[in-house]
Amino acid sequence: MGSTERIAQVAKRVAKWARAGHHMVVVPSAMSGETNRLLALAKELSPPQHTDALARELDALAATGEQASSALLAIALQAEGLPSVSYAGWQVPIRTNSAYTKARIESIDDAKVRADLAAGKVVIVTGFQGVDEAGNITTLGRGGSDTSAVAVAAAMKAAECLIYTDVDGVYTTDPRVVPQARRLHTVSFEEMLEMASMGSKVLQIRSVEFAGKYKVPLRVLSSFTPWDIDIHEEAKSGTLITFEEDEQMEQAVVSGIAFNRDEAKISILSVPDKPGIAYHILGAVADANIEVDVIIQNISKDGKTDFSFTVHRNDYNRAIALLKEKVLPALGTDHIEGSTQICKVSIVGIGMRSHVGIAAKMFGALSQEGINIQMISTSEIKTSVVLDEKYMELAVRALHKAFDLDQSAAI
Ligand code: ASP
Ligand code: MG
Repeated sequence: MGSTERIAQVAKRVAKWARAGHHMVVVPSAMSGETNRLLALAKELSPPQHTDALARELDALAATGEQASSALLAIALQAEGLPSVSYAGWQVPIRTNSAYTKARIESIDDAKVRADLAAGKVVIVTGFQGVDEAGNITTLGRGGSDTSAVAVAAAMKAAECLIYTDVDGVYTTDPRVVPQARRLHTVSFEEMLEMASMGSKVLQIRSVEFAGKYKVPLRVLSSFTPWDIDIHEEAKSGTLITFEEDEQMEQAVVSGIAFNRDEAKISILSVPDKPGIAYHILGAVADANIEVDVIIQNISKDGKTDFSFTVHRNDYNRAIALLKEKVLPALGTDHIEGSTQICKVSIVGIGMRSHVGIAAKMFGALSQEGINIQMISTSEIKTSVVLDEKYMELAVRALHKAFDLDQSAAI
């Protein structure tokens, strides 16, 4: 919602649904750019630092964005002739823990909301924020209004949670990389989780976890669809994220191709092949709060092996320094190398559970393009490869085609 004009349109859309007989709870995020604007003001006054005292005030500040948009939406709905009431997180209340700037929702008291709905009102609940045990205002992390919406839907046992966003659904891959990418009509929440964690930034990942846990059917649809389109058409638009592998699921084995450039690779060569080595290396990394993703260990030769893994690019220098200082001396090697010029490309699909040869097909498509695979990791519904960063787009396009995901392909 970038302007009062847009808010008025949202109100008209909500009114359309309400007048069709639906009980509506609406969870707005701040007006576009508002959260950034507020946080930039804080930056003008204080250097970024990790104190609880600062984080508390940042949350109190950022939460005002949603409070304003929620009240404005209620005003617009009233102007539309619909009784409406808005609540800030603390008024509901939406209880969270006290982890400022990344709080987690613990419970939602639905009594007020239910009473208002029963009285025929449209209820607006601020996204992105809550309140901790002691009454402090908290926020849920950037993009957190997605999670608020799913949490409210779960508490209300809503028939569906509609997330209106700036894309019109979840695609087989990023259409900027593959113009032939198709919008998926449905995707399972497990697939969505894999795709979201690998760079499809349609929804805050925690909202998808929440939807899976509480079995909230979630639909991602475009906020740019004209508000006055036929309600049945709107109800079928976008992408439905389901928690059931029902009949309607598109039966493609691979549903999407995800990719990112967020990781870096580290290899330690000639480490002794004996019990405790992986623990020794990765334990030190974990103690420094560095997350590890893909891990491989070679078969040993003459009692020595090579050990490689990936970390987030932002942690790369810190990880190398730490390993050199704390780990390598005890391993009796100084052979460490790495690269930040890598990418990770993954195929994702629940159909992979019941089909063989999918990974082989992936490797075949990459080899046809002459792309070397540096690392491989697999899970039940995903196969990921680490490649030279310069081949990322080529790999994504080749895989998109190999798995018949291009728009023209029959489903
Ligand atoms: N306004 C918050 C943000 O910009 C929450 C959201 O938009 O989901 O991150
Ligand atoms: Mg958002």
